[in-house]
Amino acid sequence: MNTRTVEPTRFAAIQGASWTIGSLILFSVVFLTAAGCSGETDAKPAGMQDKKFPVMKSAQEWKEILGEDRYRVMRLHGTERAFSGEYHDYKKKGIYVCAACGKELFSSSTKYDSGTGWPSFYEPIDDESVGESRDESYGMVRTEVHCARCGGHLGHVFPDGPEPTGLRYCINSISLMFEPAR
Ligand code: FE
Repeated sequence: MNTRTVEPTRFAAIQGASWTIGSLILFSVVFLTAAGCSGETDAKPAGMQDKKFPVMKSAQEWKEILGEDRYRVMRLHGTERAFSGEYHDYKKKGIYVCAACGKELFSSSTKYDSGTGWPSFYEPIDDESVGESRDESYGMVRTEVHCARCGGHLGHVFPDGPEPTGLRYCINSISLMFEPAR
């Protein structure tokens, strides 16, 4: 093989790779800056990005329906401050439904005091009510949970709950609405 013909090819390949990497970095900076400023981009975990749900709406529609605080938690995957929500110490008997679409999610009969400052349940009301996704944000690997009908973010599930499931569904109060037992 003639090195005089190989070298320019290698040089071109290196140049091409450098240009590609440079473009990717530039694109990332522009994209992340735009996302950070606008607040419009869904901050969903990777496992949530392409999921389809029976109830789907645009970001603008969800904003109008949910209001600013609920939108931040349910659509941008935010977290309410511990002990700040309406239901962390709530003991009435009834059903907790999705604050966005009204789907029944949890029963008060599975609610317990986890001491975390967020309403905690050891299981959802049925197998179809809550979906899960892998959440790798903040340098942790957690299991995110959301409403199976509208995809609204609820919280996370951890393997440190009480019997009979050993699970702790740690849920934002603002993602729920309570319907008292009749
Ligand atoms: Fe929902």
